[in-house]
Amino acid sequence: MNEILIPLAYLVASVLFIMGLKGLTHPKTAVRGNRLGATGMLIALVVTLFDQHVLTFEWIIAGLAVGALVGAILAAKIEMTAMPELVAMFNGFGGIASSLVAGAELVKFAGGGSIGAIPVAQFTIAAGTSGLIGMVTFTGSMIAFGKLRGLVSTGVVTYPGAQIVKILFALACLALIVMIVMDPGNIQNYWILMAAAAILGVLAVIPIGGADMPVVVALLNSYSGIAAAATGFVLNNTVLIIAGSLVGASGIILTMIMCKAMNRSLANVLFGTWGDSAQSSMPGADEIYEGRIKTTSAEEVAMMLDGASSVIIVPGYGLAVAQAQHTVRDLSNLLKANGTDVKYAIHPVAGRMPGHMNVLLAEADIPYDELVEMDVVNPAFQQCDVAIVLGANDVVNPVARDDPNSPIAGMPILDADKARTVVIVKRSLSPGFAGIPNPLFAADNTLMFFGDAKKNMLDLVAAIKDS
Ligand code: NDP
Repeated sequence: MNEILIPLAYLVASVLFIMGLKGLTHPKTAVRGNRLGATGMLIALVVTLFDQHVLTFEWIIAGLAVGALVGAILAAKIEMTAMPELVAMFNGFGGIASSLVAGAELVKFAGGGSIGAIPVAQFTIAAGTSGLIGMVTFTGSMIAFGKLRGLVSTGVVTYPGAQIVKILFALACLALIVMIVMDPGNIQNYWILMAAAAILGVLAVIPIGGADMPVVVALLNSYSGIAAAATGFVLNNTVLIIAGSLVGASGIILTMIMCKAMNRSLANVLFGTWGDSAQSSMPGADEIYEGRIKTTSAEEVAMMLDGASSVIIVPGYGLAVAQAQHTVRDLSNLLKANGTDVKYAIHPVAGRMPGHMNVLLAEADIPYDELVEMDVVNPAFQQCDVAIVLGANDVVNPVARDDPNSPIAGMPILDADKARTVVIVKRSLSPGFAGIPNPLFAADNTLMFFGDAKKNMLDLVAAIKDS
């Protein structure tokens, strides 16, 4: 009976994972998609418990309770802007869990335990792969977490011969996998592999600048999926193989989307030194801004908006920091009531994680059809009376288009500078994520509305109501 029911339940769980992923592709269906995926995971978990020879349910229930509690607290408390750090932690724990489970199976096998119908070669190759990728994911993710939190140097850390040292460690890991396959009884080799892979993970991530960490986190997410799929082969567990492959594939797709949106190759992210080399050839901030910055006030912007028939709002990271999404919704409602056409221009890497702006604006119930993707909205800037750049910086920096020497050269940007008037809301002239000055702040058609995004939006709403 179990031979039919368990694979059937795994199939249902896998279908739910795929439907869940499909749901996550659109904000409207994302919540449903999340629930479908979670239901699939619950089914997979329960069925696996029935399928395996579980020694004590007490430990499993205790683990579930502690895990659920920590997860619930983290999910409720975490700031939206700290999401990449949380994801880095999750990836890391997923990686080490896969390695430890594969190691435990190897220990059992070395002690004379049965591995059922699994060919020994499949078992040992998969265990070695899981040990290697899982540990690289674990320590790499911990370094990524440290860099995002500012606990580890966020700079580009390089030393002579860095690539050679990495290659030597990678070769040593591969040699250890071969030794595990040839002599699975010698469990020592597995622990040495885990230690070498742990060092490799640190060496791989430490040289990458903090600015590239979100891309690295997406890549490590893919690795954690591959490690889980490898452990699926160790256990001969179909649902783990499918779930791991889905994570592995979606992680790599996301990595490529992020690289494309920043006009970088993956190799450049992993081995390049973005933000360090090209910066020196750009004019300095003083040279760009000196004597050219014009400031404005809430009352002045309110007057401008009163006569505007088309307004495009460009949200960025500062909107998330200030939590100004509800206030900006109130502003756009006021403008729409006045007959103004209002759109939100969405850059694929605005904020600090993919879909960051969509999530924030959806939280404030801003209608999805007002959120317009970069390629579609860009031509509209030329007919736009006022572009309000709200806590965004790099995604509207014209040097990406105009200066081949800039570190962000070639990154597609929102053409906010083409609007008749550009109002920039931010607290100072500080640079954004890429660490470079933005000539848009000094452009003839730009007015700087200095201050916190939420406070300035509240002042603006009040000024419009008063006028
Ligand atoms: P930026 O990081 O370029 O700029 C954000 C601006 O927000 C800062 O210049 C800051 O200026 C301002 N700001 C911060 N706090 C506030 C506040 N409370 N009120 C008002 N303004 C504030 O953000 P963008 O969204 O334009 O660009 C995203 C960057 O992140 C890009 O470089 C992208 O490549 C990168 N990135 C994005 C990823 C993603 O998945 N979304 C992943 C990896 C990288 P000030 O301090 O003066 O207020």
